[in-house]
Order: sequence, then C-alpha cells, then structure tokens
Amino acid sequence: MIDQNGQDPTGSAPRPPGQHPRRGPTILQRAVTCLKTHPGQAFCASCLSSLLGLQPSAGHNVMPKLEGYGIVSVRHDACSRCGRRRLVASTK
Ligand SMILES: [Zn+2]
Repeated sequence: MIDQNGQDPTGSAPRPPGQHPRRGPTILQRAVTCLKTHPGQAFCASCLSSLLGLQPSAGHNVMPKLEGYGIVSVRHDACSRCGRRRLVASTK
C-alpha cells in the first residue's frame, strides 16, 4: 500500500486565513491589553501570565517592561486575583 500521498502531518500546517501569518502582538502588548480589559484591577506576574495563558516566567519578564508603558503602573500592592502582596501591574 502506498501511504505517501497524504499531506505531511508534521509539515507546515498553515493557519486559517484571516490570522496573521507572523507573530501576533508581543507579550507586552497582550499584557497591556489584558490590563485594559480589567480596569482598576492589579495583577501580579503569575496571575498576569495565567490570564494570558503563558508560563509564569513570561509574566516576570514583562513586569519591568510594563513599568515603562505609559498607561500602566507597577507597584507593590495586593494582587486582585490571588490576593498576595507583591509586584503588581494595573492601568492608571
Ligand atoms: Zn496574583
């Protein structure tokens, strides 16, 4: 039996049309968007990562960058999600 006419299952499976073929928004942009959708709430790196569906390390990496983002404030406070006092980010 010949079984090689099918498509390569491991090959480049193109995304559905309409989605950007390249990388979407950066983690930083996604984090800012996420904070905008939760106005008045502050999230620690772990919870922010969780909301974005990312590894916790991604949130920790993005925290210092968020501080330089105009509309975001980073400070030590209680996280709105887990309640722990730690470095949190929120929109101003
Ligand atoms: Zn948290």
